[in-house]
This record gives sequence, C-alpha cells and structure tokens, in this order.
Amino acid sequence: MRGKEIPYKIYLSEEEMPRYWYNVRADMKNKPAPLLDPGTHEPMTAAGLEQVFCTELVKQELDNDNREIPIPQEILDFYKMYRPSPLVRAYCLEKKLGTPAKIYYKFEGNNTSGSHKLNSAIAQAYYAKEQGLKGVTTETGAGQWGTALSMACAYLGLDCRVFMVKCSYEQKPFRREVMRTYGAEVTPSPSDQTEVGRKMLAEFPGTSGSLGCAISEAVEAAVTHPGYRYVLGSVLSQVLLHQSVIGMECKTAMDKYGIKPDVIIGCAGGGSNLGGLISPFMGQKLRGEADYRFVAVEPASCPSLTRGVFAYDFCDTGKVCPLAKMYTLGSSFMPSANHAGGLRYHGMSAVLSQLYHDGYMEAVSAEQTAVFSAAETFARVEGILPAPESSHAIKAAIDEALRCKETGREETILFGLTGTGYFDMYAYQAYNDGKMTDYIPTDADLQKGLDGIPRFPGNEF
Ligand SMILES: *Cc1c(COP(=O)(O)O)cnc(C)c1O
Repeated sequence: MRGKEIPYKIYLSEEEMPRYWYNVRADMKNKPAPLLDPGTHEPMTAAGLEQVFCTELVKQELDNDNREIPIPQEILDFYKMYRPSPLVRAYCLEKKLGTPAKIYYKFEGNNTSGSHKLNSAIAQAYYAKEQGLKGVTTETGAGQWGTALSMACAYLGLDCRVFMVKCSYEQKPFRREVMRTYGAEVTPSPSDQTEVGRKMLAEFPGTSGSLGCAISEAVEAAVTHPGYRYVLGSVLSQVLLHQSVIGMECKTAMDKYGIKPDVIIGCAGGGSNLGGLISPFMGQKLRGEADYRFVAVEPASCPSLTRGVFAYDFCDTGKVCPLAKMYTLGSSFMPSANHAGGLRYHGMSAVLSQLYHDGYMEAVSAEQTAVFSAAETFARVEGILPAPESSHAIKAAIDEALRCKETGREETILFGLTGTGYFDMYAYQAYNDGKMTDYIPTDADLQKGLDGIPRFPGNEF
C-alpha cells in the first residue's frame, strides 16, 4: 500500500484491533530493577504485593518474560466502545508551520474521561472483579485517572473510592461531579479517614495536598478494608503494558500505509502513555529490527528524567509503598505553586527509566508558557482543545517540525495526543490573560527533594 494517499484520519476496523498487550520488558536486556520492600530492602514477593494489589495484576507487574499478554474478551468489548482511537495526519498543522515534516498524532481523548487512562482503568477493574473483590481505592491528581476508573467500575459494578488531591478537588468541582455521577466516592486528600491523612493534617494544617500523600491514603484505605485493593493509573509496569494498546494500534495503522516514523514523542508524567505508545516500536529497536528516536517531554518545573537521579526511591509521601528504581526528584518533591497541569509526579516508570538510562530514549523539558503557546497553535488549526499534559508533546513535535523546516529534511514525526483540556480552563484562562508564569527549580530547590532519597547499600547515586 506504499504510495497511497494518506487520509486525515486512519482508523482500524474492529478486526484489526490488537488482541494482546505487548510487554516490552520481554525484549529488554537490562530488565527494570525489582520493587523492594521499604523495610527490608529485599525484592517484593508476589505474596507481599498481593496485600495491596489484585492477584492477576501482581502477576503482570512481575512478568518480565512473556512478550504477548492476551486481552480478555470483556476488555476487548469495552475497548470497542471507544477504540480504535484515530491516528491523525496533522495536515493543517504542517501547513501552518510550513514544514516539510509529516506529522501524525494518536488521539486518546475520544472518551468521556478525556484521556488514555481508561485503557488501563478497565483492565485493572476487570481483574479486581474477576478476583471477586468488592471495590478498589485510588488517588487522583488532575482527575483524569479517577474519572477513568469511575467509568470502568460503574461498567463492572465495583465500588470505587477516590482520594483526590485537595487543591484539585476544590479547583475542579466538575471533575469531581463526573466521578460521582459514575458512582465513585470522592474524598479530598489529606482527609481524616486515614492515619496518614490525619498525620498530614496535624503536621501541615491547611495543606492543599499532594499526589504522594493521596497515594498513601488510598493504599491505607485498601489494606484496612477487606475486599478492597489499591489500583494506580500510571508508573507501574502493568499500566505501561495495558497502554501498549495505543502503540499496537498505531503501528498497525502506520504499517497499513507504509509509514515509518523517524521520531516518536510523548509527554511523560509517570510514563504510561509514552511507554504504551512507543512499546512496539521500542521492541523493534531492542531486537535490532528498526531504528527510531524516542523523546520524552516533561515539565521544566517537574524534571524527573532531565534533572533527577536514577535510584531506588519511595513512590509515595507516606513511604508505605514498595521502593522503585527510577529517575526521581525525591518523594517530598512538589512542583512550584504556579505549575498548572498534571505531570507532577516525582518519579518515572521503572521501565522507561531503565530504557532512558541505557540510551534508548531521549528526554527534554518544556516551560509551561511555551507549552500553552503550542496548545493554542494546535487548537487553532487542528480543532482539538488539548490537555496541558498532552501539549508538552505538541510543543516538542512543533520544535522537531521547525528543525525540519530549517534543514529541509522530510522527517516523519509521531506524537501522542493523550487527552482533551476541558477541565483545565483555569490554566487556559491564566495563559489567555497573560498571567501564566514559569518557574524552573534551582539546583538548591531540587537538592531538598534529592536529600530525602533513602541511602542504603546498593542504592548509590
Ligand atoms: C495522566 C495523563 C498524562 C500523564 O500520565 P502518563 O502516565 O505519563 O501518561 C498525560 N496526559 C493526560 C491527558 C493524562 O491524563
């Protein structure tokens, strides 16, 4: 089919949708380091993890060997309600930029939750249901994950308890109402419902909360309530596995038209959308079958890959979760108050961290005013109002396209457009009013977070 004219949108038929998730860990020579028990520093066993997580998901978390994990029929059926997602040729953006580059984006915002997170939410809820559990607990920051999980739990008839970072709970009341409409119980974090929350409230009265604290609360709520387990929307290897559906669809669609991307770009918070998008392409690179450039884009205000260290660190503020070896800014790190979007987690997926460490992936950071400027350019020509998170990828894609304009190279650029920004209008308002500012943390700012990373034999950094 090479040479065929490329349509604006490339869709797949239901028959062409992937039937399995691709586990990139199977093709990695250096596997991501195992999760460690925070007390003993010994690798976590399945039995230990099953106190907190669903049994089947623990199996997936620990699986570094099986390349293809079949997607259960019920999940495939759910996927069919909003997938395949379109792969869009950004003809209008190319024209606007006057670039010889060919730009494509995979759009994951076509569902009510407004982001890619539903791909993993339905999988995690499904395995919880299969296990006969009553419900799941989780945290949400910007609110996309909580919304996605609420939708999945409503569909399967599971209880869903969401700890929502307090400032977000107050700033995004409509996100909260979407979750409640889907039947979730939403609690602002820190709360007085958990020991961790009560301690935070006593120590920092009036705190607006953090993702790390909400995680600790959700974990505590799961382990203290029989019939509940904790689920997480990013960072974990199982989440990257579920999100590989993005990359699998994308690769099938590109292969169909004989398109080979030169560079693949994604925004990086905990790493799940980027990991999912690049997985099948990275697999080819790891097996020596093809070469691509992979670029992670993170906020300059939360630069875990570009300015963090590669070390074992706590995943949450309360230090109740296992230790993960990852690029991290330290579990006490919080982006400055003027940071608008998501992508505020202190660490990064262990899979992506290892790949980055081994030189298979690049990382860049972007300041938020530049990110919103890219969002505005994109919205005005491509029509979609992008999420601030996704707009980091747009910014880097535009930069690559402008470089192609200078060099005259006709490169093919693919980026992940992870979601829509309808619930981020305060941030857009600040940008439109000229009131948005940038803050790049100083080395001294970052040192405070790095000082909190645990030091023990084998964890030199
Ligand atoms: C959560 C989210 C992200 C970042 O999370 P990753 O796990 O890094 O993918 C990016 N974009 C949107 C729209 C999100 O909701």
